[in-house]
Amino acid sequence: MPKEPIRPNIGNIKPYVPGKPIEEAERELRISGVIKLASNENPLGPSPKAIEAVNKYSKDISLYPDQTCYELNRLLAEKLEMPPDSIAIGNGSDELMLLIALAYISAGDEAIISLNTFSTYEMVSRLMEASITRINLKNYTYDLGQMSKVASPKTKLIFVCNPNNPTGTMNTKKDMDDLLSNIPQNTIVVIDEAYCEYVESADYPDSLEYVKKKKNVIVLRTFSKIYGLAGLRIGYAIARPEIIKYLNLVRLPFSVNRLGQIAAAASLSDAAHVEKSKKNNSEGKSYLYKELEKLGVSFLRTEANFIFINLNNDADMAFMELMRRGVIVRPLTSFGMPGAIRVTIGSPEQNKKFVDALAEVIKK
Ligand SMILES: *Cc1c(COP(=O)(O)O)cnc(C)c1O
Repeated sequence: MPKEPIRPNIGNIKPYVPGKPIEEAERELRISGVIKLASNENPLGPSPKAIEAVNKYSKDISLYPDQTCYELNRLLAEKLEMPPDSIAIGNGSDELMLLIALAYISAGDEAIISLNTFSTYEMVSRLMEASITRINLKNYTYDLGQMSKVASPKTKLIFVCNPNNPTGTMNTKKDMDDLLSNIPQNTIVVIDEAYCEYVESADYPDSLEYVKKKKNVIVLRTFSKIYGLAGLRIGYAIARPEIIKYLNLVRLPFSVNRLGQIAAAASLSDAAHVEKSKKNNSEGKSYLYKELEKLGVSFLRTEANFIFINLNNDADMAFMELMRRGVIVRPLTSFGMPGAIRVTIGSPEQNKKFVDALAEVIKK
């Protein structure tokens, strides 16, 4: 066998563990009607306006997309009341994480990352051979105080997931203000707000204010969650124009696909769909809190569209048993929390199916 001439760091990268696709579960278990509450997708699906736009423009897919994402950029700028050159659009916010690492990390530079969080921050940092400093959660919440304490002039990036996936916990405006006033001048804080539209707490930071004040922050948001467009891969970054310019510089041409741009633009004109999705989530959350309390399981209150449930037991086993009952959840072993699962708040029918399945699994 020939040897792989691989870069040393690549061998240490852990493959991303996705939520199990419905098709795969049905094939393996020879069952049908499986529901997926494992990837925080919108149970109401995309806006009908997005579907209509995709159908209308599907014949244009022989043409390359607009590399500048002109129309989507313009509409986002209008909605956010930010200048267009402070927004970069990516092939999902995942691509933007990679572009950030590409633009800012040289081998040996430090990245500060929390444990028990979204794994892509670590993946992109490792790809760029960063020296990674890991910080524990404190009471299931990002410990921004500790992050600012360990930050040094060698620190290029600090990743903050707010609300945090998978715990659903949130850092307040005060936490974030303190972090940003206590870091070195050349450190950039990446604030991943994939779930910001679901937050109900009044203490949630308005991170665009930091961008307006020219702070070293990059705010990441996505069309994959509340907008229900995960399959089309559209995310965006909001930052000072100087930062945005470099992200666009390191991007491959045409990374943001044509139908994704069109669907995202159409989704922005459907505020009612977003409101409906928030309401469904809020009501589903109350229902699940009540039922989980009845079952006597321990869980965390959430600011997002998923609930962290501590089973103090083998989560992989619970995952299998729930799947046999037609419900795919996310076991949190790959997040470093082997006793817990994460369940997406679904439609009322999906939530009930999950509660019924969990009740059986717990009894067993
Ligand atoms: C789902 C998710 C994203 C979204 O990623 P996309 O690439 O935009 O689909 C980003 N960050 C976190 C924490 C997520 O859970």
